Amino acid sequence: MEVTSNLEEFGFREIKMAKDLLNAWVEEGLPDGFYSVGVKIAFNKRSGLVFLTNEDHQVAMMDGDKLEMFYYCHQCGAEGFSYEIDWDRESYLCGECCDDHCDEDSGDEDSGSIIKKFIVKDF
Ligand SMILES: [Zn+2]
Repeated sequence: MEVTSNLEEFGFREIKMAKDLLNAWVEEGLPDGFYSVGVKIAFNKRSGLVFLTNEDHQVAMMDGDKLEMFYYCHQCGAEGFSYEIDWDRESYLCGECCDDHCDEDSGDEDSGSIIKKFIVKDF
């Protein structure tokens, strides 16, 4: 297993990283959108990364001294914090993939909402 939550397999460095995660959690809470169901500390032995993960396989990691969501784009494999890969929360894609695959209905929303205002309520 490359990813473990067994603290016995954590080295001193990884325990320190886990401590930082827990400190940030206690002081600032979990990042927006990170579900606490099944949350656990995980250590990827291949990458050396220590992070929080949960039943939905979301990942939260330290970005400097802040606990932040860490995203993985299933389309192209890009991973990083939201600002690094321009994460789109609605499509669950990185910015580049969203440019290619997201619906192009964002531009002319105004005309639609204006029409809705003219729907007659009382007959
Ligand atoms: Zn992508």
